[in-house]
Amino acid sequence: MSGKIVRVAGPLIVAEGMSDSKMYDVVRVGKEKLIGEIIELRGDRASIQVYEETSGLGPGDVVVSSGSPLSVELAPGLIESIFDGIQRPLTLLKEKSGDRIQRGIEASPLDRHKKWEFVPKVKKGDKVIAGDVIGTVQETEVIEHKILVPYNIAGTVKNISGGEFTIEQTVCVIDSGGKEINLSMLQKWPVRRGRPYKSKITPSMPMSTGQRVIDTMFPIARGGVAAVPGPFGSGKTVVQHQLAKWAEADLIVYVGCGERGNEMTDVLTEFPKLKDTKTGFSLMKRTVLIANTSDMPVAAREASIYTGITIAEYYRDMGLNVAIMADSTSRWAEALREMSGRLEEMPGEEGYPAYLSSRLAEFYERAGIVNVIGSGDITGSVTAIGAVSPAGGDLSEPVSQATLRIVKVFWGLSAQLAYKRHFPAIDWMISYSLYSDRLAKWYSKNVDKDFNTLRSKAVALLQEEAEIEEIVRLVGIDSISVQDRLVLETAKSIREDYLHQNAFHEIDTYSSLKKQYLMLNLILEFYKLGKDALNNNAELSELLNLKVMERISRSKYIPESNISEFDDILNDLRSQMEQLQQIKEDFNA
Ligand code: ADP
Ligand code: MG
Repeated sequence: MSGKIVRVAGPLIVAEGMSDSKMYDVVRVGKEKLIGEIIELRGDRASIQVYEETSGLGPGDVVVSSGSPLSVELAPGLIESIFDGIQRPLTLLKEKSGDRIQRGIEASPLDRHKKWEFVPKVKKGDKVIAGDVIGTVQETEVIEHKILVPYNIAGTVKNISGGEFTIEQTVCVIDSGGKEINLSMLQKWPVRRGRPYKSKITPSMPMSTGQRVIDTMFPIARGGVAAVPGPFGSGKTVVQHQLAKWAEADLIVYVGCGERGNEMTDVLTEFPKLKDTKTGFSLMKRTVLIANTSDMPVAAREASIYTGITIAEYYRDMGLNVAIMADSTSRWAEALREMSGRLEEMPGEEGYPAYLSSRLAEFYERAGIVNVIGSGDITGSVTAIGAVSPAGGDLSEPVSQATLRIVKVFWGLSAQLAYKRHFPAIDWMISYSLYSDRLAKWYSKNVDKDFNTLRSKAVALLQEEAEIEEIVRLVGIDSISVQDRLVLETAKSIREDYLHQNAFHEIDTYSSLKKQYLMLNLILEFYKLGKDALNNNAELSELLNLKVMERISRSKYIPESNISEFDDILNDLRSQMEQLQQIKEDFNA
């Protein structure tokens, strides 16, 4: 199964004599055995995208097919690792060959020597099918890794033993119709194929993120799909990092895909230092990192999101809730465009291939909450969030358009908001969540029965603000009623005290859903009482000068442990409003 190079064009090579190969087979190219993947096959001619620098290759060099598609290794040891787009272990490679990774270097994705304590969960004579848990390994302090019977295997346990094993050693022998199958803790899966599941379940609960504008206004469901488009500097990466830190998920797969190199360095230096508040351990103890910075070959970038989502699905199959972030899918699409151009395919809009949308859909469709395979009734989920970075923030370009047709949540970042330092710069006038209605029941049951009412009121006030501001622009502030001015003041408070959230402030960085409710309740209570007071001839300035106003605007800095302070502020607000009314009534009498 070997052929010869006839043409080299950057990351793309064409080889002849490849008739034995299949589409998407992994090949080794040239003397240095560079890794590549067949992306087009015509007769015995294969077009191959090479995941490494191709300089020095030329016609006549040998291409050897491995006979199997690009796959990832799945076993204990994934967490805390940093891989490139084709699952080469970056930390290990750097140790071996320094900062510039040597070409064709061989390194197993996962440690072959490390021993893991395997605890059997089935016994001799038990019948098992694919997806069943045969044992567990404490992979990190916070994640128990379940060892699953691989796909397409079933039988009776013939032998199983606990103890210390490497990922390649046999831990369990299965009798499958008279045939013995040795199971180790390691399995492989082709990255471009979604891992199977029994059925998809309609998402019905949110994946809370601790970010107020997201959880309250534009929530994402567990198992949902979201996109964060925005121009350079509008805060896409900070949003993705905040989700990685705070989202209600068991495990995070973070794919840094072609964005500036230093952004990935931020993740690498920051995440290990950050503690997960729920567990007290470093965030890395539940994180898998895939890094493809802009200085790495484009083809590996193209593979990275599939590598990432395959790992996410694998942990989903253990019954975990996984969240995957890709920053940025635009850089991924550019890699796709470059390869398509070199294949001389018919270009679609802006040079992107016609299959851009179907490829994007293939990625996002692998998210979802599912009934996992195996004999139990177990659910697991993958929630996917992709950043999109259109040039100049122009959402009419093909990647943004294709993404918007697929995702159900759209957090549109605006350059104007970022410029005014309103962060997160999620523009409430253009953003949406198609999950809001479906999640309303969950919020009223689990947060507060009034949560949805408050949310609708807040949204309505922000819309009213935009309308009133339009009138002010036309005819001036003096022409609007005092009630409208109260609307403006309340909307300002919603924007500045509520939606604005500083990712870098120790307390403000995260708000529980309960705290979100209490904060919003304070602001809207001010509005309600304020309206009554104005009807009773109070002045707007008197309302705004109430001492309690300062407490309301600083309520975001109340620690989660001190949440009862909200009752106190609410009482303060009510009594100060009452006092104001009293003075008015006395005056009128
Ligand atoms: P992008 O990835 O869209 O290019 P970044 O995520 O790198 O943009 O954000 C640019 C800058 O904006 C950050 O370095 C930070 O200073 C600021 N920023 C973004 N989001 C927030 C936030 N939630 N809180 C505070 N600052 C923010
Ligand atoms: Mg960025």
